[in-house]
Amino acid sequence: MVFEKVLIANRGEIAVRIQRACKEMGIKTVAVHSVIDRDAMHVRLADESVCIGPASSNFSYMNMGAIISACELTGAQAVHPGFGFLSENANFAQAIQEHGITFIGPSPEHIRVMGDKVEAKKTALALGLRTVPGSEGEISNIEEAQSISHKIGYPVLIKATSGGGGRGMRVCYHPCELKELIENASTEAQACFGHSGVYIEKFLANPRHIEFQILGDNFRNVLCLGERDCSVQRRHQKIWEEALCPVLSTDQRQEMYTKVIHAMKQFGYQGLGTLEFLYENGQFYFIEMNTRVQVEHPITEMIYGLDLIRLQLHVAQGLPLPYTQDDLRPFGHAIECRINAEDPENFCPSPGKIGAYAAPGGPFVRIDSALFSGYTVPSNYDSLIAKLVVWGITREECISRLRRALNEYVISGINTLIPLHLRLCDEPDIQCGKYHIKWLEDYLKDKG
Ligand code: ADP
Repeated sequence: MVFEKVLIANRGEIAVRIQRACKEMGIKTVAVHSVIDRDAMHVRLADESVCIGPASSNFSYMNMGAIISACELTGAQAVHPGFGFLSENANFAQAIQEHGITFIGPSPEHIRVMGDKVEAKKTALALGLRTVPGSEGEISNIEEAQSISHKIGYPVLIKATSGGGGRGMRVCYHPCELKELIENASTEAQACFGHSGVYIEKFLANPRHIEFQILGDNFRNVLCLGERDCSVQRRHQKIWEEALCPVLSTDQRQEMYTKVIHAMKQFGYQGLGTLEFLYENGQFYFIEMNTRVQVEHPITEMIYGLDLIRLQLHVAQGLPLPYTQDDLRPFGHAIECRINAEDPENFCPSPGKIGAYAAPGGPFVRIDSALFSGYTVPSNYDSLIAKLVVWGITREECISRLRRALNEYVISGINTLIPLHLRLCDEPDIQCGKYHIKWLEDYLKDKG
């Protein structure tokens, strides 16, 4: 089916990003928005817009009924969920389909399997991918948790089955803390995800987070669009991402591309997806799969010269992939800095009114953002307000360009992470790519 009109069930920079792809493809766009987002950029740029509820996302961007009604009202043939909100909600994907509307993403069944982290690990294992040692399923009692933790050895990580965004996770260093930490993680999981189930995994010492971008069509063709290194994290949340990973050899990456493609072909996956791994001592351990577009997709676009949202729309229209794996050649290096509306020292959220706004420019600099001068960043949503993405022929050139672009970037009136990113550009460990998932937290502790 050729899409004429797509509804974008999201807000902020990703809603604007999706609109850009739609417009370039000649597809009309429908924005949905909460009351507080009435004047937001994604609403201003859309061909049509529908207000779907109050500021609280539970009653607007998470409101399935209102979104489906907006489709009916505007005649949108497809829904793009972006990331966050309902993007990984299998019931939403199914409800959309039941209304005769295309969900731009994988099948509800694939979303369901990968959305349950325990199921996801079992599936990955069956598809030939190594997983982090741990419990086989959800923990049903403390005795079971103790025996598994003893077997795999402390420290262990307690993780929410339906977790996301680094929430519902607790590191346990000693058996005497286990019971209390499981209770903490379960309570947080219940509050955040409506499901209190947790499982246990070996807490790896100093791994890197390396993820593989894949794209499948309805004909069992699957591409692997390289990897991204997202090890620079705070509280399990990514801050700075790079493509390709600065420490993998060509052989290591080829081996993983082959494995990942094979697994996803067997799975019959359609759409964009990311397989996340922890990488330690030359081994990859699958941790989860995201069945949607990711925040950091632009760095992959920069090195491959491809528009991933356009390709996502392409396969969602039932068309075969226009490329084979042999057609794809990454070129150069790309880095993304997440610019959050947060204090760069203590990471307190910093919503408020933007005064002056001037985005950097020049060669190979890309900003994905929905900001403008006079816009008020609401306190109701995620703090990610802009992504600065920079390309360079070498990693070194990329970092120099990034520093230059960060220095040009003016966002006044609120605090942002720009000063932190500038400091990172000058850090020797970052410059030589010598970091792991705990590096940033150690750095912040040491340097204050
Ligand atoms: P979420 O869906 O909440 O983002 P993930 O499973 O993707 O959770 O994990 C998020 C981050 O938590 C990872 O990038 C990594 O930094 C850390 N992490 C996850 N599992 C482990 C583990 N077994 N050992 C050490 N760190 C881990």
